Amino acid sequence: MKSEAETGHGGRIDLANLERTELEELLRARGVEPFRAAQLLRWIYKRGITDFDRMTDLSKALRASFREIFAISTPRCVARDRSTDGTEKFLLELSDGRRVESVYIPDTPGWTFCVSTQVGCAMKCGFCLTGKMGLVRNLTAAEIAAQVRVLAAELGLLDARFTVVLMGMGEPLHNYDQTMKALRILGDPAGLALSPRRVTLSTVCVVPGLDRLAQEPYMPNLAVSLHATTEAQRDLLVPLNRKYTIADIVDACRRFPLKRRSRITFEYVLLAGVNDSPEDAGRLVRLLAGLRAKVNLIPLNEAAGIPYHRPTDEAVNRFAQILADHRLTVSVRKSRGRDIRAACGQLIVEGPARSAGQRLAIAMGDGGPG
Ligand code: SAH
Repeated sequence: MKSEAETGHGGRIDLANLERTELEELLRARGVEPFRAAQLLRWIYKRGITDFDRMTDLSKALRASFREIFAISTPRCVARDRSTDGTEKFLLELSDGRRVESVYIPDTPGWTFCVSTQVGCAMKCGFCLTGKMGLVRNLTAAEIAAQVRVLAAELGLLDARFTVVLMGMGEPLHNYDQTMKALRILGDPAGLALSPRRVTLSTVCVVPGLDRLAQEPYMPNLAVSLHATTEAQRDLLVPLNRKYTIADIVDACRRFPLKRRSRITFEYVLLAGVNDSPEDAGRLVRLLAGLRAKVNLIPLNEAAGIPYHRPTDEAVNRFAQILADHRLTVSVRKSRGRDIRAACGQLIVEGPARSAGQRLAIAMGDGGPG
């Protein structure tokens, strides 16, 4: 069955949801030269133009027929907040009225867009507000890719070499097909030409999804949300661990085909008195031994309803030092945009009109690709 997001374009096909091969096929079937696909993608992604009348290298007749065949769904930016540190949070409304937030983080040192892959999340990690909502729905490839298109257009960065982190709301490997399709759309050379080296996919590690990812021609950088060093501890923090354990994850990472010189980032949310002891740090060193790994420590962003606390800076530094002493590359993620509630676990959006009053809480990555 088609989702609400895929229908509702007045019987027209949503061009924003098509990758190049599909678009070429559709055009061919209608007797239109396939090279028109690249022209269309150039207008939409490189120039941010979605009005066929403004696509001046297409004949009037072609523009008219495209108008009849295609819609180009584009989320509407309904609010934009700017942090004192330059981080900007965009509230985007989708065609069914659902809303997602996407974050622009400058000076990372480049420009980073943090995007969502689902409305809500089924993973229910104990320290993440998104988990409290459960999964509302998957985003379509169009909706995932459009977050980048809309932010880049709004910020005048369509031509810039930005990076994208799939660290917003949702679990990308739990919406595998649409996420990978979105990346292929963003990677198209006629469009934004986003290189997979400039994309980081962050996951709690749905192991079969990771094994599928290992086969992909478009292979983003990988960040694994580990957060714990014993199975019992991770069972509590990341319920999916009951299905795919730390041992399964480490095995899957060992067989993951890394590109030359690249490494897997392990994200580790530090929770005071829970997983921030020197013993945890020692266990983490042993778990990652022999893996091409780096560790990104994320001191918890506290939020109402989250039963954990952020460790002191001393505890964070002590933990980081133990990893560094064992020659692990370690970084501590800086919290960005906390004053506008744009940091990890701090995003809150109002629900759509038809569920007015419902408050949706979104947790998002805040610090770029680690
Ligand atoms: N579902 C994916 C991507 C989403 S979140 C994943 O879990 O990897 C990106 C990162 O932010 C994850 O490592 C997540 O665990 C972390 N995060 C979530 N809530 C947080 C909070 N309140 N404080 C700090 N980091 C948080």
